[in-house]
Amino acid sequence: MIKDYQTQKALRDAYDFAIIGAGPAGITLALQLARAGWSVVLVEGGGHEYSPRSQAFYACTSTGLEMYAEETRLRYLGGTSNHWAGRCRPFEPSDFAVSPPGNLPGWPIPYAEIERYLPAAMDIVDLPQGASFQARNTGLQGGEFDADRFLLSPPTRFAQKYAAALNETPGLDVFINCNCVDLEFDQASGRLVAALVSDYDLHRERLLAGHFILATGAIENARQLLNSESLLAAGIVNRNGLVGGCFMEHLNIDMGTFILKEGQGTEPREYYTTDAFVAEYRSGKGNVATSVLSDVRTYGRTAEVKHFLENLACEMGVASKIEFIAKFSCPGDGVISTMLEQFPNVQSRISLLDEKDPLGVAKVNVNWALSPDDRHTIKCIGGEIAKQFAEAGLGFVKLNDYVYDTAVPLKIAPHAHHMGTTRMAASAESGVVDANCKVFGTENLYVAGSSIFAKGGASNPTMPLLQFALRLADHLNDKMKVASKAVV
Ligand SMILES: Cc1cc2nc3c(=O)[nH]c(=O)nc-3n(C[C@H](O)[C@H](O)[C@H](O)COP(=O)(O)OP(=O)(O)OC[C@H]3O[C@@H](n4cnc5c(N)ncnc54)[C@H](O)[C@@H]3O)c2cc1C
Repeated sequence: MIKDYQTQKALRDAYDFAIIGAGPAGITLALQLARAGWSVVLVEGGGHEYSPRSQAFYACTSTGLEMYAEETRLRYLGGTSNHWAGRCRPFEPSDFAVSPPGNLPGWPIPYAEIERYLPAAMDIVDLPQGASFQARNTGLQGGEFDADRFLLSPPTRFAQKYAAALNETPGLDVFINCNCVDLEFDQASGRLVAALVSDYDLHRERLLAGHFILATGAIENARQLLNSESLLAAGIVNRNGLVGGCFMEHLNIDMGTFILKEGQGTEPREYYTTDAFVAEYRSGKGNVATSVLSDVRTYGRTAEVKHFLENLACEMGVASKIEFIAKFSCPGDGVISTMLEQFPNVQSRISLLDEKDPLGVAKVNVNWALSPDDRHTIKCIGGEIAKQFAEAGLGFVKLNDYVYDTAVPLKIAPHAHHMGTTRMAASAESGVVDANCKVFGTENLYVAGSSIFAKGGASNPTMPLLQFALRLADHLNDKMKVASKAVV
């Protein structure tokens, strides 16, 4: 049943599971666990619809590359699935087999661990059962780029699709306008004993459960852990450690422009690095999309103003002479964009500010930072696509100078894929959660969502994070069954 915590203070005395955050990860876990017969509460900070009041709690500062942390997440029932685009590409065995450069390990589990949840995750995002991930063009002959393979979800809006299930599943309580503001950890037992929840009038209550799962997105999952004084005092969290570190995005780089050879079709093409390419160049993976513009393309927050001025310049035929705004492209230009893997690095991080939000939770700063290994990925993939494009007789590519010259500031945009801030690892030295998504040093605190990603690969994160959520639900269900048998 969905209840409004602002007006209905009806938490039960205790639940088997408390799940914080009702986006794709939280909703999936709540339904799986309640359907297995456990008592479950799902608390969501926002309401049924978008509201400035709730969204304001996502306000944060940025000291790194601009990644629009406030705009690229939605804080209400259904979470960011309320405006995701639905592009789905599964991880591959090589994502799990190969370690990233640097001193952090890759995944501590093989791909097979989540592959078995792919059909169920596809079903959740309304992809046809048995559908194969399709290539829409052919690869390039050099062996460096295959055609990319992906499917498009309608896109599934989780709050709408699962409204009836959230209302009617026995054993499940859903509270909207119910904000988690603190996590109370008991060092002696190693257990999280309560989550402190609050409405918007600062009415606070201790939410009690046997197990807690944070599912508030990659920035907020780290924020909740960092904000808890009791987790800090117990040494579970270290504000300069891995919690909040290794924030990863997928890199959206404007690689340059191309001129198609006569006779080549103008349809968009999408390529994907082969495992052989990645192994040879020791680079990250990447999707490269080429398209011929039918409209002016702009970047950044001032996009609307730029869009107007750029259209004007294109119409007057003076685009190439005008440097006063930025370099930009006109209709008919071929543009090359990307979705590239960023490697984990601890300098790219979410950290707490001294300032608190109106509910008393410390605000965050996002420092999205690339490493030299990421610049290497950009250079290798840019250089190779230009070469292969010419060799395939498709046309001629002019790369932007920052692709190969790391001294030139990069023109980069995010993809709104937030990952890595509570990374999975085999030990606490190199991660925040273990192979079962349990926070190291705790008995009953788990994390769901792409914050657990040890590597981001170049696959869209939502379908894979659902695979992990389904796996976590199975693990918790088994754990509870074993515990119940022991009691009998
Ligand atoms: C424009 C856009 C397009 C995208 N397109 C794609 C795509 O094509 N393919 C893809 O794979 N991914 C895409 N994504 C990313 C996708 O939306 C996310 O991967 C996905 O929504 C993450 O799910 P989640 O449940 O982990 O987190 P979220 O969806 O962010 O949900 C977190 C929930 O927690 C709640 N919450 C936060 N703080 C608290 C608190 N203190 N107390 C209680 N509740 C709280 C929030 O209100 C929210 O409901 C896109 C994102 C954007 C912005």
